[in-house]
Amino acid sequence: MNNSYDFAELQSFIEVNSYTRNKAGVDEVVKRFSPLMEDIGFQTDVHVREEIGNHVHYRSNKKDGEKILILGHFDTVFPEGTFTEFTQDDEWIYGPGVCDMKGGNHIALEALRNLYKEHGEIYNIDMLMVSDEETGSDDSKALTTKLVTDYDFCMVFEAAGPQQDVVIARKGIATYYIDIEGKGAHAGNHFTDGTDANIAAAETLLALSKLTNLTLETTVNIGKINGGIGANTISPSAKLVVEARFTQSAERDRILKAFSDLNNTKAVNGATITISGGLQRDVMQPSERQAEYIKRIESILGKALITERRGGVSDANVVSAAGVPSLDGFGPFGDGDHTIHERANKASYIERIEDVTKILSNLIYSK
Ligand SMILES: [Zn+2]
Repeated sequence: MNNSYDFAELQSFIEVNSYTRNKAGVDEVVKRFSPLMEDIGFQTDVHVREEIGNHVHYRSNKKDGEKILILGHFDTVFPEGTFTEFTQDDEWIYGPGVCDMKGGNHIALEALRNLYKEHGEIYNIDMLMVSDEETGSDDSKALTTKLVTDYDFCMVFEAAGPQQDVVIARKGIATYYIDIEGKGAHAGNHFTDGTDANIAAAETLLALSKLTNLTLETTVNIGKINGGIGANTISPSAKLVVEARFTQSAERDRILKAFSDLNNTKAVNGATITISGGLQRDVMQPSERQAEYIKRIESILGKALITERRGGVSDANVVSAAGVPSLDGFGPFGDGDHTIHERANKASYIERIEDVTKILSNLIYSK
């Protein structure tokens, strides 16, 4: 059934390495993608970056009515030489980014081409492609937050769930680096002169782990501990790396406050606790406006949308935190992302192109 679809164009994107830290590679993907968008009437705004790949904003003409932003990223998690090949069988395509998310980007392009063919002109739909999503969107976050408020609705093209599920919620994430300064001393001769940073670290990590609340889906993971010099020295310093995840803004606030309260305090034994880091991606929460879009899309497609909540983050978190209703997961269903087994389902890919064409066509042109 699907054998008629030609994945050659997607393959040409997959085969360019665009690891986040490979600026030249990410920029090469931009160089190949932009003319295809310009062919269907888009203007390209390049947001030049020195260290990482450029971000690009493809803009169409504006008229009265609802404005939609399509959001994607051109970077992948694979350094050069680690996972390079595009392959396929009857059911699946395989390669770096087939579902995360060059596949999703390409689905959006194909749907936009269909609109252009059908209506002769594309308007009120723009596309933002960032270059650093896989390392936390540290740079692009500000750009996305600023641009997205010009739109009524944002569709993110990360991978779909197994039943073409769309994503309505994603956990927020905060990462903290905790430095504990004690006082070193000889463990034999001057035991009482020392202030043991390791003991302070242990007490701190137990206290922090109690912030976990599984009922409210809040987790605090003490991912890494380092401390001390050796058996005969009172440990002068220790470090903890902690990651917190949450699904509700009230829980986000509780966690952020707990860490901020702990910063620049003394442990029971007098060691000093200093905290850096903070909120990395805000929580993506379902909203009433999002629910309205789900209803409208269901009536456009004539079928129920299966929705999903995910633990992992994406740029949908950034959009949602900016107050713009969004749905994520308009890419193809796939699995094995972030591994060399990454694959996307061909039937899902083709269905997504059809569905996204219908959704955009109805939301924009049926006025
Ligand atoms: Zn992704």
